[in-house]
Amino acid sequence: MANLIDGKQVSATVKEQVKQETENLFQKYGKRPALAVVIVGNNPASRVYVNNKKKACEMVGFQSFEYALPEDTTQEELLELVQTLNADENINGILVQLPVPKQIDENAIINAISSEKDVDAFHPENVGKIMIGDYAFLPCTPAGVMELIHATGIEISGKKCVVIGRSNIVGKPMAMLLLHESGTVTICHSRTQDLPSVTREADILVVAIGKANFVTADMVKEGAVVIDVGMNRLENGKLCGDVNFAEVEPKASWITPVPGGVGPMTIAMLMKNTLTAFKKQNNLF
Ligand code: NAP
Repeated sequence: MANLIDGKQVSATVKEQVKQETENLFQKYGKRPALAVVIVGNNPASRVYVNNKKKACEMVGFQSFEYALPEDTTQEELLELVQTLNADENINGILVQLPVPKQIDENAIINAISSEKDVDAFHPENVGKIMIGDYAFLPCTPAGVMELIHATGIEISGKKCVVIGRSNIVGKPMAMLLLHESGTVTICHSRTQDLPSVTREADILVVAIGKANFVTADMVKEGAVVIDVGMNRLENGKLCGDVNFAEVEPKASWITPVPGGVGPMTIAMLMKNTLTAFKKQNNLF
């Protein structure tokens, strides 16, 4: 039977650290980090994410400002808001909740956010820094996964790490962070041949595909650490990961549940990035 990696607990610890540091900085300098959260349109999932991010800001003692724009907002209008927030000295982090409506080019918006306020770490400059291992902002979800692996006490160095998924926001940066800690990393995707034979080699398996219950017991090595990034909504409304938990759990040494695994970590790491942005902008290191 596997040990559960409790994302709620690890994320609570990260947020508590951020809260304490924020309070100390406030006592010393009388300033708090401020996050601008921009939401365009009426996507219900986006609304839930934005509300959770605002709640987390409140919990750690940040200011948060919401900018809710209508569904028919033009790219120019959104770019104008981003420029205003870039220039606003009272805003330390800017987050534009994705996806944006189809008339807006997502990349144009990401590129327009000041790299110093890019707390999602999606800007090409920050992506490049992640590649060379010299980064201030951690890509939130992969960084959250690293915290969860660290919480197991298992050393990454020298381990065979397999990441399923090569998206810009999860798979690719995930592989980089594992590599920076000296894992021997393989990235799999939809064209990978004989996927189970690759995943069965993994000491550490990170799954970010977006397909419910995709990873079955025959794809996992006995004693592997299994991290499930997937968040899939089933027809019955329940949330489910990319890993078939019931099958894989008896084989793994450590495993994340869904919900309560990677999900809570992403927001905790966003708080950490916002604090980093605040400190950098105010020369508080
Ligand atoms: P994505 O952009 O759709 O990428 C999915 C990746 O999975 C692609 O690289 C794709 O390969 C690969 N893939 C799809 N089917 C496959 C198959 N049959 N075999 C092997 N690889 C396959 O998704 P994403 O944004 O990375 O998100 C992945 C999952 O993580 C989703 O469930 C998402 O909801 C979840 N997520 C969770 C959090 C969190 O906070 N917990 C944050 C972000 C994402 P190709 O490149 O070849 O198409």
